[in-house]
Amino acid sequence: MNHPQRTPTAADQHPSEPRYLEVTHEVTNQPRPLENYNLYQQDTALQEGVLREGAGHAHDQLTDYGAWAGLARSIELGHQANAQKPALRTHDRFGHRVDEVSFHPAYHELMAMALEHGLHSRPWTHPGQGAHVARAAKYYLHSQVEAAHCCPITMTFAAIPSIRQQPDLAALWESRILANAYDPRNLPDSEKTAVTIGMAMTEKQGGSDVRANSTRAYPVAQEGPGQAYELVGHKWFVSAPMCDAFLVLAQAPGGLSCFLMPRWRPDGSKNPWQIQQLKNKMGNVANASSEVELRGALAWMVGEEGRGVPTIIEMVAMTRFDCMIGSAAGMRQAVAQASHHCHHRSAFGARLSDQPLMQNVLADLALESEAALAYTLRIARALDNQHQEHDRLLTRLATPVGKYWICKRTPNHAYEAMECIGGS
Ligand SMILES: Cc1cc2nc3c(=O)[nH]c(=O)nc-3n(C[C@H](O)[C@H](O)[C@H](O)COP(=O)(O)OP(=O)(O)OC[C@H]3O[C@@H](n4cnc5c(N)ncnc54)[C@H](O)[C@@H]3O)c2cc1C
Repeated sequence: MNHPQRTPTAADQHPSEPRYLEVTHEVTNQPRPLENYNLYQQDTALQEGVLREGAGHAHDQLTDYGAWAGLARSIELGHQANAQKPALRTHDRFGHRVDEVSFHPAYHELMAMALEHGLHSRPWTHPGQGAHVARAAKYYLHSQVEAAHCCPITMTFAAIPSIRQQPDLAALWESRILANAYDPRNLPDSEKTAVTIGMAMTEKQGGSDVRANSTRAYPVAQEGPGQAYELVGHKWFVSAPMCDAFLVLAQAPGGLSCFLMPRWRPDGSKNPWQIQQLKNKMGNVANASSEVELRGALAWMVGEEGRGVPTIIEMVAMTRFDCMIGSAAGMRQAVAQASHHCHHRSAFGARLSDQPLMQNVLADLALESEAALAYTLRIARALDNQHQEHDRLLTRLATPVGKYWICKRTPNHAYEAMECIGGS
């Protein structure tokens, strides 16, 4: 029997070489991932800053935290938390309103890590020399793993100075706000020993200018600080809508006032605070932000009637401080990624990190990052020294300036760092 003739291939002509198509190329000149390193031990500027600003006692704790933040698994949690957007479910399948947002399990794991390590509580529960500095340094490490979930951590931390302006409400809430635990269940706060706090100021017609707020507050019985009101209106940008309670601005008969509004009423029924939809954000993906309507939501007045802005500004000021930490942390991680890449990548016969022009770029990036950190830690020390007039005034003046400048510079800094990485 005649066999059909086989067509010769390139492999037949070069039998000593691997089969063609078998191995297309060897991967070279690509850096290994930056993981399993200690973010604290590798950050000389941070170690020096912590010492300089009075938190040397936190060195060992920060070393441990830096090791956690650099683990491949921790870094992977950050990627996972952002891989899928939070999803809103307004009703259950039987038609009951639930207003529930679900997140990737990695988001919850990161939340638990932050809250169990007191990133929202430590300077309030253990004030004293270096308390804010140590917390800022730890948060700086934590935020480099994943920044979006830090929003509810910051708001919970920042709510304390505002809530303390209403001591009867603080007595009910403070110990649960400051508990070092995470309870994400969609249950009345009365069934929880640990709660998180959000803020709701912005409305469609005005975000910066909150005096334009149109949400109204109707007294249930008595009027005034600590009394119950029902809120009717809307809020246009409410982040972390699964927080257990929110500080809300609304127009009371005596003017714009601040209220504490839980997601559930004390009788265990759902407070009529209804999520309309989630924002479709480009960044900050792991964290949900929502548009809501208030249909007689029960809330208690915090601080004096008509003094809503001065009351909530205490919280806003602390969130501004945390924005400095988060943005400085973003810069630091950008420097780490760019330097790592350039150290392991060659072009035109030399390592990128040995090319003079690249050295200029990396030095500029490092300088700006370290300046942002130094500024932030100095403000942290000022927060630790509020008994001194100089530091009190410094906090008041330098926090908004630092927040403005560091947050403004961070995207440009990231853009330059990304350019170092080229198209990889
Ligand atoms: C990721 C994210 C999360 C948020 N989470 C929350 C939240 O949890 N709770 C909440 O209440 N809000 C939240 N916001 C809303 C945010 O607080 C507002 O977007 C912000 O206050 C700006 O308000 P606005 O969007 O109405 O802009 P506008 O106030 O309309 O401002 C538009 C522009 O005009 C500028 N501008 C304003 N006034 C002046 C002036 N006098 N002179 C010159 N320029 C001026 C502003 O700087 C801005 O560039 C969030 C926003 C983002 C992006």
